[in-house]
Amino acid sequence: METVFDFSMIAPCGINCGTCYAFQRTKNRCVGCLTPEGNKPRHCNLCSIKNCGHHPQNGSNHCYDCEIFPCKRLKQLDKRYRSKYHSSLIQNLKDLKVMGEDLYMEREKVRCRCKVCDAVICIHAKECQTCKTPLPELI
Ligand SMILES: [Zn+2]
Repeated sequence: METVFDFSMIAPCGINCGTCYAFQRTKNRCVGCLTPEGNKPRHCNLCSIKNCGHHPQNGSNHCYDCEIFPCKRLKQLDKRYRSKYHSSLIQNLKDLKVMGEDLYMEREKVRCRCKVCDAVICIHAKECQTCKTPLPELI
């Protein structure tokens, strides 16, 4: 699953689509938020963050470049991901801004893997899908 660690997998909101259940499943697999054509879950096609009118005008696809970052919608999503899905999206975006694409993806390669068996994790799961080690509260 090499594409997990491609920058094109990082959605505007800071989710790494490569760590999403919809990308990792074999049946009806999602192509990732920023891939223009292809299968995506309905809630992703309707996403108010992806389809937001505030998108930065400087070519960046990511919310950290927005004049109203972090907006209310992103804060709500961030809260849900912090409490349920092992990930702070706002912190991801702040880190991405500071680190730049390449360094950020190098970090993803390390932190999006199970510390025990090295399998790519799914942030929507409670445990590693391969060895069943519980995931930390925040990766
Ligand atoms: Zn594991």
